[in-house]
Amino acid sequence: MIHTAKQILKESFGFSSFREGQDEIIQRILHKKNTLGIMPTGGGKSLCYQIPAMIFPGVSIIISPLISLMKDQVDALHAAGVPATYINSSLTTNEYKERVDNIRAGEYKMVFIAPERLESPAFASTLRTLDISLIAFDEAHCISHWGHDFRPSYRSVVNNLFNISRQAVVVALTATATEEVAEDIRGLLNISEDNTVLTTFARKNLSFHVLKGENKKDFTLDYLTKHKKDSGIIYTSTRKDADQLYEYLQKKNLSVEKYHAGLSEKERQRAQEAFILDDISVMIATNAFGMGIDKSNVRYVIHYNMPRNIEAYYQEAGRAGRDGEESDCYLLFSPQDVQIHKFLIEESQLDEAQRTKEYSRLKQMVDYCHTESCLHSHFLHYFSDQTNYSDCEKCSNCSDQREKVAITTEAQMVFSCIKRMRESFGTTLVAQVLKGSNNKRVKELQFHKLSTYGLMKKQREKDIVDLIQYLTAEGFLALSDGKFPVVRLTTKAYDVLTGQEQVYKKMKTVEEETTTEEN
Ligand code: ADP
Repeated sequence: MIHTAKQILKESFGFSSFREGQDEIIQRILHKKNTLGIMPTGGGKSLCYQIPAMIFPGVSIIISPLISLMKDQVDALHAAGVPATYINSSLTTNEYKERVDNIRAGEYKMVFIAPERLESPAFASTLRTLDISLIAFDEAHCISHWGHDFRPSYRSVVNNLFNISRQAVVVALTATATEEVAEDIRGLLNISEDNTVLTTFARKNLSFHVLKGENKKDFTLDYLTKHKKDSGIIYTSTRKDADQLYEYLQKKNLSVEKYHAGLSEKERQRAQEAFILDDISVMIATNAFGMGIDKSNVRYVIHYNMPRNIEAYYQEAGRAGRDGEESDCYLLFSPQDVQIHKFLIEESQLDEAQRTKEYSRLKQMVDYCHTESCLHSHFLHYFSDQTNYSDCEKCSNCSDQREKVAITTEAQMVFSCIKRMRESFGTTLVAQVLKGSNNKRVKELQFHKLSTYGLMKKQREKDIVDLIQYLTAEGFLALSDGKFPVVRLTTKAYDVLTGQEQVYKKMKTVEEETTTEEN
C-alpha cells in the first residue's frame, strides 16, 4: 500500500498537521520538481526530505555538513522504524565497509553523507550502482559563495553528484538565504524560481535587544543571576573571551560550560552533552558551537560581541526558543567589535569581490545595531521577507519609550574638539580633553590649551565616550583601521558643524534620570 505524506506524518512521526511550508515542499518533490525550501531554524526542514524519501522507491542521499548531527538523525529515524545510516569520518574502517556493503544491498531508505565523502572515487562508484530517487542538500547555504558559511568542498561535490545520478530529484534546504544566495543555489542545483518555497523568517517568540555602551561583564552577570533556572548560550568572538568569561562566571557560582575550537574533541563533547542534557545551564562559546545543535529549551542567547554579519547573527540568535516559548536575544555592541571584524577581513584570504561583499555585510550588521526602528522587521527586510510584521512591540527599539532629543550642540562640541586635535587620536583621549582631564598625556600634547578643553566638564567621562561611540555608530565619525583606531569626522559631521544637519538621540528624560538614581 502506498502511503500518503499526511499518513506518514501521523503514523511514523506522530504529528497531526504539517507546519508552514512542509506540505508545499513535499508535494513538489513528489512531483519530481527540484525544490529549494527556505525555512527558519526549528521550522521542520528534516521531514521535508524524510517523508518523500519514505515514499519513493530506492534510496535517498542526504548531504549534510553537520557530522555531529547525523547520528541523532539516524537514531530518530530508527525509532520511527525507518532504515537509515550515515557515512562520515567518525567511522572505523570496518564500520565503513559494512555500511557500504549494506548500502549496495539496498538495505537503507536514507543515507546521510558528509560532502567530503563524495570526493572519494571509490565511494562515488558505490553510489553509481544505486537506484537514487532523491538527493537532499541540508544547510544548502554552505554551497554558496555568498552564503555566510561557504564550504568549498560542499560546492565542488555538486557536479560529482549530478554525474552519479541524473534521474534523482533534488531538494535544497536552508534557514538562511538572502535573494543572492537563493539564486546561487538555484543556478547550481537546477531549481526554478517557481519551485522555491519560502516561509516567513519571523520568529515571533523571540525578543531582540541591542545594548550599547553597557558594561558587558556586569550585564551578563546580572542577567544570568536573574535567570539561573534558564538555559542560555553566550557567544563571544574569540576563544580568549570565552575562556575569561567562563572563569569569571564560574567563580560567581553560575552553572556554566565552555566550547570553542581550542579545546580537545573530548572536552567539547563533554561540554555539549552537559548542556544538551541540562546538567549545566549556560554555554559560553565561540561560533564553533551550535550548528546542528537541536536543543529546544534555550531561553536566551547573548552575543557578547557583534557577529560578522546578519545571517550569522540570525542563525545563532535563532537557537533560542525553538520550542516556540518566549525567549530573549541580546547583542552587546561596542565599536571595537567592528574594528576586529575589519581587521579579520583584511587578514583573510578572500579575493577582492568577496572582501568588498564582506565589508558591505559588516556594515549592514552595524546598521542593525544602530537602527531605531523595529529590530525584528529589520531582519525580515534584510531577508526580503514580505511578511507584514511591522512592529514586534517587544524588541529594544519598539519598547524604547524615550523621546528623541536634539543633541546638535553637544555633537558640535565633540566634532570641533576632534578637529582641533587634528583628527589624530582615539575616542578616550578626545573624551578626556572634552572632560578637561589632568591626564599627563593631555598636558604633554598641550591639549589643555585648546578652546575645547573642558567644554563638557559637567559630564562623566564615560558618558562622553558613549556619545562619541553613538556619533560613530550614526556615521558622523569614522574610526581608522588598526589596533589603535583614530577618530575622524565624516562629511555628515561637517554638515552638522555648518548647521545643515541636526543630531538626535533617544534620551532619558530628567524625570526618568532622577528616578533611576533614587532607585
Ligand atoms: P530544522 O531542521 O528546520 O531546524 P527540524 O527538522 O529539526 O527543524 O524540526 C524541529 C522540530 O520540529 C523537531 O523536533 C521536529 O520533530 C518538530 N516538527 C517538525 N515537523 C513538525 C510538525 N509538522 N508538527 C510538529 N512538530 C514538528
